Amino acid sequence: MVSMWPALTVSGFMISGFGIFLILVTGVLGLVIFLAGPLMIVAGIILKEPNPPKPDAPNKRYCKFCMAEVDAGSPTCSECGFAD
Ligand SMILES: [Zn+2]
Repeated sequence: MVSMWPALTVSGFMISGFGIFLILVTGVLGLVIFLAGPLMIVAGIILKEPNPPKPDAPNKRYCKFCMAEVDAGSPTCSECGFAD
C-alpha cells in the first residue's frame, strides 16, 4: 500500500483554492498561502500519516478522560473511575 497522508493532501487543495481567493483580496499574502498549498499536497503524498498513540500492550487502552493506560476489558478507568 502506498503511504500517504490524505488529510494533508486535501488540506493542500483547499489552501490552494483559498489562496487564489486571497491573492485577489490581499495580494502578496494570498500568494504565499497559495504557494503553501502545493507544498502540503506534495508533503501529503510523500509523508506517511502519523499513527495515533497506541497502548504498549494489546489488552490495554487509554482512558478518554485522564489518558491513563487501563485494562481494555475494564468498563471503568482504574485511575479516575471514568466509564466510557
Ligand atoms: Zn481515567
